[in-house]
Amino acid sequence: MYDVLIEAYGPQQWWPAQTPFEVILGAYLTQNTSWKAVERSLANLRAAGALTLEGLRRLTIGELRQLIQPSGFFTRKAPALKAFVAMVDEEFGGSLAQLASAPTAELRRRLLALPGVGPETADAILLYALGHPVPMADEYLRRIVVRHRLIRPAPGKNRRGYEALTALTRAAFAADPAAGHAELFNEFHALTVAVGKAHCGREARCEGCPLAYDPHVEPHRPC
Ligand code: SF4
Repeated sequence: MYDVLIEAYGPQQWWPAQTPFEVILGAYLTQNTSWKAVERSLANLRAAGALTLEGLRRLTIGELRQLIQPSGFFTRKAPALKAFVAMVDEEFGGSLAQLASAPTAELRRRLLALPGVGPETADAILLYALGHPVPMADEYLRRIVVRHRLIRPAPGKNRRGYEALTALTRAAFAADPAAGHAELFNEFHALTVAVGKAHCGREARCEGCPLAYDPHVEPHRPC
């Protein structure tokens, strides 16, 4: 799928943000909302000089709530972001570089223990902000895997389903050199989002989909 998608769409070199901390903010803010709404919150934070650890530290919880209002669930997301900053300050010397240098499994466990952080947010932070080689899954990948019947029984929209999808991705890239895994997982996730948006949404639009004629996977045959 990776080979077919990268041939069809080209390298995505993807994350719609500029700095690791902006990626982290985006990973929190995008929960249950569209990226357009996240962009409005990020613009508010930028205008307030709060797109950095230092900037976010300075904000009161009330100010933060107001600035991230456009992306919804702000009463939950504001304290969750403050908890992340507190963890970096208390356990990693206030340094994202120090946070990034922690071992992957330990860091993932630590992130998952924070309020408002599920596996998708933790992996987005690990992979896209901190450069750790962890695969990501989302609803687009779940739909593709279910429709191509790559995992039986079909993975559900829950933690177990999420972990089954990331395990499948990890296994699919296992033969590739480990040094390239972060880049491959990064691209693969971006490519599945691209094909999901173009073809594999709530309804499968298989006509013209690059994955409809991939001889390496069991083709989906709704038509
Ligand atoms: S071929 Fe159909 S089911 Fe498969 S990814 Fe494309 S749209 Fe989805």
